[in-house]
Amino acid sequence: MAQEVSVEKDFDISEKYCTFVRDFKIGTRKRMNANDDILTKKRPLLGMTEEELRQACKELGMPAFTGSQIAKWIYNANGNGNQDKGLGTKDNEGKVNVNVSVPVDIASWSNISKKNRELLAEHYEVGLMAPLDSQKSKDGTIKYLFPVSNGKMVETVFIPEKDRATLCVSCQVGCKMNCLFCQTGKQGFEGQLTAGDILNQIYSLPERERLTNIVFMGQGEPMDNLDNVLKATQILTAKWGMAWSPRRITVSSVGVKDKLKRFIEESECHLAISLHSPIHEQRAQLMPAEKGMSIEEVVGLLKNYDFSGQRRLSFEYIVFDGLNDTPTHAREIVRLLSGLDCRVNLIRFHSIPDVPLKTSDEKKMENLRDYLTKHGIFTTIRASRGQDIFAACGMLYSKKGTPTLS
Ligand code: SF4
Repeated sequence: MAQEVSVEKDFDISEKYCTFVRDFKIGTRKRMNANDDILTKKRPLLGMTEEELRQACKELGMPAFTGSQIAKWIYNANGNGNQDKGLGTKDNEGKVNVNVSVPVDIASWSNISKKNRELLAEHYEVGLMAPLDSQKSKDGTIKYLFPVSNGKMVETVFIPEKDRATLCVSCQVGCKMNCLFCQTGKQGFEGQLTAGDILNQIYSLPERERLTNIVFMGQGEPMDNLDNVLKATQILTAKWGMAWSPRRITVSSVGVKDKLKRFIEESECHLAISLHSPIHEQRAQLMPAEKGMSIEEVVGLLKNYDFSGQRRLSFEYIVFDGLNDTPTHAREIVRLLSGLDCRVNLIRFHSIPDVPLKTSDEKKMENLRDYLTKHGIFTTIRASRGQDIFAACGMLYSKKGTPTLS
């Protein structure tokens, strides 16, 4: 009997061994292909700073100033309108068609010698990636699904208004912060975006020419991908880059120790802190990040800096029915923010599946706004935009799954 069991076991093991060997071979082959890919894949120019472009040119045996010329072609197109007005072509319903052609062609960069253009094109590509899908709200807001370089996808939201057009960009695939009220938090963390991935959401946006403001309030926590967020904002604001004013860019954060301080000191962009509750225990339930850096610590840090000038500091406050819309919360917000030059934006909550939170009613939101305003905190109630598509925030991503692009 024991012998029979042993034979059966041996058989199982040998089968598993065969499967293991087969999987190992496939795995090795896949890795070899991936390595081949790394060796043959062209590097994207989008997302490189002027200094990196100059260095790359030197490595290819070109003069360093060619790097500065490339920066002009990519980031401000030599001021000659070389860049297309966007990559997407749209059908009658405003839906973006995929597989659109890339308009920025290295061969057309006329102030670089033909030989150097060819050499450059051998090793690099501009690196633009058109959106894969879109959803349009009846109020004109459009949610795009953009591919990123790690083969995943992120959402980007275009919000047109009468006299401005804001783009809400993502900086990570998913997010580690796991906020209770957020669909992205439920997705978990699936990778960092490169500076090029962040900029591509702007560059490959069909409405790019209409943009007036950019907010880093999409998927991910900017302080958790700080190097790439700082690099992307540097390229957006540098004279050799897109030369945007940092006052047209807002970066949001839940508050991450050390990183928030670094951002305040290294960037001039506006800052928006996700507040959502002034009470430690409750905020920790809504936002686990409170346990890493409490809102009291965040505010304590902010009080060391001057936000009374052009640089704006705001606090985002999603108002949940019966949860954080009481007079006690109003008093606590005033206590917390006293002495800070800031504004508060009250935001309606758009329900997400499996989360039993509801948005507060209009009257309670107005009461909260009026109380804060009366106590010297400039407070607005944000207009709801794209509710019909935000109601399923993260769903455009989920619908597509997480295919790899290779
Ligand atoms: S709200 Fe922001 S920080 Fe929180 S889980 Fe969602 S994306 Fe991350």
